[in-house]
Amino acid sequence: MTARLACFDLDNTLIDRDGAFLAWARWFADRAGLGEDATAWLVAHDNGGFTPRPQLFAGLREAFGLTASVDELVAAYDREHPPFTWVEQPVLDGLASLSTAGWRVAVVTNGNVVQQTAKLEHTGIAAAVDYCCISEAAGVRKPDRRIFELAAEHTGATLSDGWMVGDHPSYDVAGGLNAGLRTIRVGHHHQLPTPVAEHHVDSVLKAFPLILSS
Ligand SMILES: [Mg+2]
Repeated sequence: MTARLACFDLDNTLIDRDGAFLAWARWFADRAGLGEDATAWLVAHDNGGFTPRPQLFAGLREAFGLTASVDELVAAYDREHPPFTWVEQPVLDGLASLSTAGWRVAVVTNGNVVQQTAKLEHTGIAAAVDYCCISEAAGVRKPDRRIFELAAEHTGATLSDGWMVGDHPSYDVAGGLNAGLRTIRVGHHHQLPTPVAEHHVDSVLKAFPLILSS
């Protein structure tokens, strides 16, 4: 029998991406001698990571008179933000429990290879799953079903009776539905009411027993 697939989003699903961004922003502002105003500016303009980084750093450069170029600021961010990410041990335990039960486990994340790979390695999530599908490398993004097909191919799993778990309705829930997966929405980062996931939980930890019992 072909193994079933459990897919997880990374940012604000497996990891507290916004918490890591805040920690980085404090460190960055302090190092640059910019103070609390710059931290607040970064958090206010980050939009949960959805503001394109060149746009974010062009704005920061303008607002605070930074001398580094936008390219330099973005490159530094890609190097310096990932070490501020962390994962809770119970999340790694939950991923391991799925593997033990015979599930194939994949991370399916929209983002760039440098930043997402560094976060996946730094947190230990890369080692805890069968495959990490990063949109920039895949050439296709959630909610396109093809990114889930790639995850299934690389893990030798079927999409039938599989799951997608993530925080974003338009990418994670819509993507899961496009791929014929059952869906679990995590947290309240987005005000979007639709598409509606089969389950809506406040923590990814509550997704593991739902998948294991399905
Ligand atoms: Mg996310």
